[in-house]
Amino acid sequence: MEMTINPVFDKKPGQPVIIAGPCSAESEEQVLKTAKALAKQGIDCFRSGIWKPRTRPGSFEGVGEIGLNWLKTVKQETGLPVTTEVANREHVFAALKAGIDVLWLGARTTVNPFSVQEIADALKGTDIPVLIKNPINPDVKLWMGAIERISKAGISRIGVIHRGFSSFGNSKYRNEPRWQLPIELKRLVPGIQIICDNSHICGRRDILGAVAQKAMDLQFDGLMTEVHPNPDEAWSDAAQQITPAVFGKLVKALKVRVATTDDVEYLEHIDDLRHEIDGIDKDLFELLGKRMTAAESIGKYKKKNNISILQASRWSEILNKTIELGREKGLSDGFVTQILTAIHQESINHQTQIMNEPAKKGGKKVKA
Ligand code: PEP
Ligand code: MN
Repeated sequence: MEMTINPVFDKKPGQPVIIAGPCSAESEEQVLKTAKALAKQGIDCFRSGIWKPRTRPGSFEGVGEIGLNWLKTVKQETGLPVTTEVANREHVFAALKAGIDVLWLGARTTVNPFSVQEIADALKGTDIPVLIKNPINPDVKLWMGAIERISKAGISRIGVIHRGFSSFGNSKYRNEPRWQLPIELKRLVPGIQIICDNSHICGRRDILGAVAQKAMDLQFDGLMTEVHPNPDEAWSDAAQQITPAVFGKLVKALKVRVATTDDVEYLEHIDDLRHEIDGIDKDLFELLGKRMTAAESIGKYKKKNNISILQASRWSEILNKTIELGREKGLSDGFVTQILTAIHQESINHQTQIMNEPAKKGGKKVKA
């Protein structure tokens, strides 16, 4: 689907979009205190949740509509644009009426096409910018689907927020970042602004800076971080929130890298290096092609002798040998295993095709 997507925030290259504010609005005083401290730091947009989608009942579910008035006060007193999460039609109408500047769809909303469509329908005829968080499961199509639904409703300023993906078991993250997914989304929707929600990826304070830096290194357009005047006392997501002062330091420490420069020497040198990489990729794929031809010959030979395609001991021998070779070349065991597994699978596919080819005419006739 052809989409016209315009940036949600106007920023110069090399200047990240900074969205910050508490996970939840708790009182007018807490919201205003946070916003004033953040406004001094020159952030671009103030966030606060007022309808909170909590995993289990019994947790604080947000202050509701009264919070919209507090956000209005933030706008009036600090001049900052404000954003909040909407999860259904009523939220959209209330937020539009209150003059909220930007809406965001939470991870538990993006996952549900019925909810996204309900929101899209409620947005028809407006031009409010919308940020769409990734769904909780690692499904780029679902994320794309939400962008398409909102775009079809006539919204042109759309951005996305990467907040990580649910997983089971131990992890240092609350939500696994799985960076290849937002990178793939960027490839599918070139130019869409992508914001890193380091708070929900990390779920803890000590690695917020590292994740924010990683996002900058991957050419993300900005950050959304949860900031609270008294994080330990926060009514939701206490473990991941930081004070405005700590947040200010985090932003200052970021090294923001630009996509390119007009420095002639850099451009010439990078061109040479890229040329070298392109040549290596070409050799790599020529070799892979040769490997498949060799695998096909083996397939034909096995077929003739009625031998099975997969021999576990041979596979394990190749894998161990290659991991060893990889180590000598500075390649991680995980990388070698992943790439060799993919190559092996492709060989099996080629051999399976050969095994299943019907016998050529003129070949031996099988008696019925
Ligand atoms: C939030 O931003 O506070 C929130 C609920 O996030 P998510 O939808 O990413 O869980
Ligand atoms: Mn939160």
